Amino acid sequence: MSENIVEIRNITKQYGKQKALDDVSFSIKKGSIVGLIGPNGAGKSTIMKIMGGLAFPTEGELSLYGATDEKGLNHARTRMSFMIETPYAKEKMTAKENLEKQRLQKGIPDKKRIEEVLRAVNLEDTGRKKVKNFSLGMRQRLGLANALLGKPEFMVLDEPINGLDPEGIVEIRELFRRLNKEDNITLVISSHILSELSLLCTDYVFINNGRIRGTFTEEELRTACSEYVQINTDNNEKASSILINKCGIEKMDVLKESGIRIYEKLDEIKDISKILYDNGVVPTEIAKNAVSLEDYYMRMVSEV
Ligand code: ADP
Ligand code: MG
Repeated sequence: MSENIVEIRNITKQYGKQKALDDVSFSIKKGSIVGLIGPNGAGKSTIMKIMGGLAFPTEGELSLYGATDEKGLNHARTRMSFMIETPYAKEKMTAKENLEKQRLQKGIPDKKRIEEVLRAVNLEDTGRKKVKNFSLGMRQRLGLANALLGKPEFMVLDEPINGLDPEGIVEIRELFRRLNKEDNITLVISSHILSELSLLCTDYVFINNGRIRGTFTEEELRTACSEYVQINTDNNEKASSILINKCGIEKMDVLKESGIRIYEKLDEIKDISKILYDNGVVPTEIAKNAVSLEDYYMRMVSEV
């Protein structure tokens, strides 16, 4: 069952004359990891603030766990946690002291929870070190620990990977994956760099200038960005059976309008065209398509 736990319906957000969001709609399924991707100023934080009740739509409607009225939304938010823009922490306190303060504020009775969340984000060895001496990565992880305190079902994380070194990125991706798989936490994560989130998300929402530019499942994005060779011949039906039976190609799409796409043996394309020819099929088009993820993203967000 795929239950939508968030529905954003035609939301527009106006800050004075500035339109931060323009008729934005998308939904988030329970159990998914959604990447909200777009350049600085795109509207990512504004969407997250609206989800968290820190900003309100000028037009449109937000639904969280089926609730759309303010009371229902606030109740739904108790099942969620938010880390929006720079995580807040007291500079003169240690990680543990900060979390203890948050635990009391949130009314979480279980004292042991602090050790658990520190371990989860790999900050258990920071001891007496004060936050003012933390690296950006450590601060981000402390923000995550704080977001985990109340055992949320759903986490909204604004640029949590921003400023991490490559090793830190790998670590935090692993953490997100674990939270999603083992603890069944639904995640929405924003980033202005698509590759930070590639190989992690189950769904991608692209945004620029306050507008949604496209929504993709992981598979759709992979297909859109994959390398393939496009083949057209005077007999595509016959060609596809030759490709399967004589060339041993399994990863292939036969499209009605644009011909055949093969996704493997791309280096053997000369041999393949010869085999087609020798079997009585004349290739009329052979073209290689290679779009990198980042190229694709740039094209996506630069469309007006
Ligand atoms: P992102 O998080 O993708 O970088 P934001 O959601 O923060 O983008 O901002 C979207 C747009 O709305 C930007 O043009 C920004 O300047 C504007 N904006 C955001 N918050 C405010 C605010 N409180 N007042 C006025 N304009 C704002
Ligand atoms: Mg932002």
